[in-house]
Amino acid sequence: MPASPTFTEAELADLNVRFETAEPQEIIRWAVETFGDGLSVGASFGGASGMAILHMVAQLKPDVHVFVLDTDYLFEETYETMRRAVPALGLTNVQVYKSRLSHEEQARQYGAALWMRDPDLCCELRKIEPNRRALDGRLAWISGLRRDQSEGRADTPIVSWAPKFGVTKINPLANWTEKQTWAYILEHGVPYNPLLDRGYASIGCYNCTVPGVQGRAGRWQGFEKDECGLHT
Ligand code: SF4
Repeated sequence: MPASPTFTEAELADLNVRFETAEPQEIIRWAVETFGDGLSVGASFGGASGMAILHMVAQLKPDVHVFVLDTDYLFEETYETMRRAVPALGLTNVQVYKSRLSHEEQARQYGAALWMRDPDLCCELRKIEPNRRALDGRLAWISGLRRDQSEGRADTPIVSWAPKFGVTKINPLANWTEKQTWAYILEHGVPYNPLLDRGYASIGCYNCTVPGVQGRAGRWQGFEKDECGLHT
């Protein structure tokens, strides 16, 4: 594994200039060669971008550490997609991370339906803390963010430092469009979540996801929130 997992600001700026015109596969190849076994891929088995990335990474390093945050509130279609896609893609090191609290324990400690009263706290308990454990001791994290997914993601860099988790973060599809992502998925026969064919544009917990709206607007309806906190 290479000695330094981090970069100076100038090095990060150079990498972002270089990768702005690179294909995602080239960025992923660089990440695999740079971080080796210290590389992790976050997977939700919800969105199309994440599935395209899993397919690209699996071509180069099928034993890459893939981590899934199981909040206990995922759609059955998401679990089914994971069961189907992992063997189809040939991934051999997929690990599931759950909250330290079962949903019954969470209800006992914080009251029922916390997501309806304090979704930030619910996301902290069920996503952020498990994400910290998933990335503990890791060097880099590949994520599927795209700039066209929301206004808040419009400036997403391709390579950055994620201080909240102490890793280099890589978004190989940052400057891809939804259309490019789907073209890749269909061309390569990549498995994807069937809810994407049923009007869901963004798929998270069933408590906080509705179909029929564009981008991330279907998440946390009624709240000034369109991010769980993993990427902010
Ligand atoms: S998306 Fe909703 S249910 Fe899932 S962890 Fe966040 S607030 Fe809780």
